[in-house]
Amino acid sequence: MSFDSIDRVTVLGAGNMGHGITEVTAMGGYEVTMRDIEQDLVDDGYEQIAWSLEKLEEKDLLAESADTVLGRIDTTTDLKEAVADADLVIEAAPENLELKHDIFSDLEEFTTEDTLLATNTSSLPISDIAEVLDTPERVLGLHFFNPPVKMDLVEVIYGQETTDEVADAGYEWVESIDKTPIYVRKDVRGFVVNTIVGPFGGEPAFMVSEGEATIRGADATMAHERGYPMGPFELADLTGIDVGYHVRKEGGSPIPPITEEKVEAEELGQKTGKGFYDYANGDGADYQPEDAGDFDWLRVEARMVNRAAFLVGEGVAKPEEVDTGVQLGLGFPEGICRRADKIGLDTVLGKLETLHEETGADRFEPHSYLEDLVEEDKTGEDAGQGFYEYDTDDGALDSYHNINVDLADGVLALELDRPSRMNAISGDLLEEVDDLFSTVDTDDVRCVTIEGVGDRAFSAGADIGGFGGTEPTDMMDVTPAFETVNDFPRPVVAKIDGYCLGAGLELALACDLRLATERSSFGAPEIGLGLIPGGGGTQRLMRVLGETRAKELVFRGNHIDADRAEQWGLVNRAVAREEFDDVVGEFLDDLRTGPPIGLKVAKKVMNEGQDASLEAALAMESQGFGLLFTTEDMREGTAAFAEDREPEFDGK
Ligand code: NAD
Repeated sequence: MSFDSIDRVTVLGAGNMGHGITEVTAMGGYEVTMRDIEQDLVDDGYEQIAWSLEKLEEKDLLAESADTVLGRIDTTTDLKEAVADADLVIEAAPENLELKHDIFSDLEEFTTEDTLLATNTSSLPISDIAEVLDTPERVLGLHFFNPPVKMDLVEVIYGQETTDEVADAGYEWVESIDKTPIYVRKDVRGFVVNTIVGPFGGEPAFMVSEGEATIRGADATMAHERGYPMGPFELADLTGIDVGYHVRKEGGSPIPPITEEKVEAEELGQKTGKGFYDYANGDGADYQPEDAGDFDWLRVEARMVNRAAFLVGEGVAKPEEVDTGVQLGLGFPEGICRRADKIGLDTVLGKLETLHEETGADRFEPHSYLEDLVEEDKTGEDAGQGFYEYDTDDGALDSYHNINVDLADGVLALELDRPSRMNAISGDLLEEVDDLFSTVDTDDVRCVTIEGVGDRAFSAGADIGGFGGTEPTDMMDVTPAFETVNDFPRPVVAKIDGYCLGAGLELALACDLRLATERSSFGAPEIGLGLIPGGGGTQRLMRVLGETRAKELVFRGNHIDADRAEQWGLVNRAVAREEFDDVVGEFLDDLRTGPPIGLKVAKKVMNEGQDASLEAALAMESQGFGLLFTTEDMREGTAAFAEDREPEFDGK
């Protein structure tokens, strides 16, 4: 058996998930057949794909034309024909074990043994689906999130019999369509992401049922103070209260009374016009920041951490996989393991123990992995180790959580890595940027690039949730990170593709050069929040754009497009996406091979000179000039010029 090469993919089901999976598969360059049981269902799915591809094309988010992508998609209602040549089949039929058994039995008959058989089930064990096969080792879970075209995460799940070869082939295929896979190494109910999200919705529902919290208090605290994309009750209304209810019921988990009541009253959320909030006759999820009272968020987070301890302790997933899962799958502002390490695992454990003692409820029973970590004094970031190890001594480039750093050929490439939040700038992220620029060995670096992960944004602003609980006086401190970037003795280039707003714009302004794709947009929307740009935004905009334009941006809070940004001198170049890498490459070639000391002095004199009197600035310039006269680089530069060759600067 060999699963080396996947060329043809078949998706079973043209519904919500099936059409989305078909679309991303075709976008990834694969020939794909989509099968449903009736022609009109197939046609509906196909039309939705065509519509979605057209939207993506309009927004310049497709690498090729929508027609080219659509050209890779075939449809049929005939199962045998659909899977005959497939190397990978992904089943996205309704969530019903008997139906899935029928489908997989047919698949075993109609495919050869080297076809990978995947299911997109959200809640059925992979092993249960595979049990009807003689070849269960080739069955795996490929759990996409809704909608697949927007959600980057795919859980790659092992059933009991799944071989490493099969899981690895699935994992690599997911990477090849530009999605982010995480392994789920054991077939646990809920896999990784839904295991963690259970208590996020469940615990607040118990607390409200017990009269210990209010719906608005819980939602406001979790969204506005703890930074989750929405409150737990708002989320339940959105996904359907019955959905969570059935998952709990099937999993044998206790059901919060308030959830039971809502299901009995058929108030299931947005889809019925009423759930925890009233959508038909009220304002929907209308909680406000000031509703956050003394809601006991630690009780909820402690339970999520306990679930994470279970996943890590039982070898289901590694902490970084859990964290990637919750960030990409649920839009959490940071990983739950990472958050636990910051809270302190001893604090989390203490909370669980107290609740367990007080209530006797099993769900608070601490997992032994968490107990062991605390026992070994691995209580989190302050202790140097918790779920993660914290490398505090040498600023190792791979020890960051919010940024990715790579150093190759003298180019230090920094990525803002919070794609689920459009790379919004959080306090943690700024600390890491500051740490990187303060500790990296400048001898190894000729220039720096900063860009955003994902295809939507350089950075869409400040992560307001991430600053939750911050005192106004803390916010008044000037954030050092922007200055550290501004003062870094090497040229720093912002590579902007997508939104560059608010704090993202401020970071870009702290860079020396800004290169952008034509689809990018820029703005300082803070005024709309009753704020002003921080991070040096007001002042750098004045210096870069001049008063007239800077005030327009800051006072009106509007976005401007890349063309205008180029016209205004906010960016050095605005180019088509296809040309972006080439243009960036040309800039970097010059910066990378330029004289390091010359560039350093040029940056310093130009940055500092603009805040000094002309006289003082000219004095700085001539000092710099004199200093450069004594360098080997200057001798190399003049010699190379005389000899008509390219200079090779050493930075001496
Ligand atoms: P859906 O009801 O929107 O679509 C299912 C489609 O499968 C329907 O069009 C149906 O006609 C078709 N179908 C039925 N029998 C079939 C067969 N034998 N062969 C091919 N197609 C068949 O359901 P959905 O929301 O797309 O969910 C599909 C699967 O994905 C389920 O297992 C679900 O648990 C899982 N899932 C759903 C979501 C979600 O948010 N909707 C997220 C992740 C995973």
